[in-house]
Amino acid sequence: MRLPHTIPLSNCRPGEDCACGKTITLSPDEMAWTRQRNIWGTATWATDYGRPAAVESGNAEIKTHRLHMDRGFTRVFGTTKNSVLLAFALVGLINGAPPG
Ligand SMILES: [Zn+2]
Repeated sequence: MRLPHTIPLSNCRPGEDCACGKTITLSPDEMAWTRQRNIWGTATWATDYGRPAAVESGNAEIKTHRLHMDRGFTRVFGTTKNSVLLAFALVGLINGAPPG
């Protein structure tokens, strides 16, 4: 681009076949590990894409927004006692009861 305007920018000759301006497409089998499983924008893709967001939304409800389940949420010792109390807390969250 810094050469004089009289020198062409490429070695292409009009009318000859070259790769300028061509779109290179790859088949789905090439580099398949980098491709999405479903076609972008379809309902299948939207369902697949929304699943992790839904799970993280549920986790946020448990940890932050409604249940505030954090260290000290239960004040008992032992896996069995904690499991029972957490089960009741999660049932209360699912049924829409206010956290207690
Ligand atoms: Zn060209």
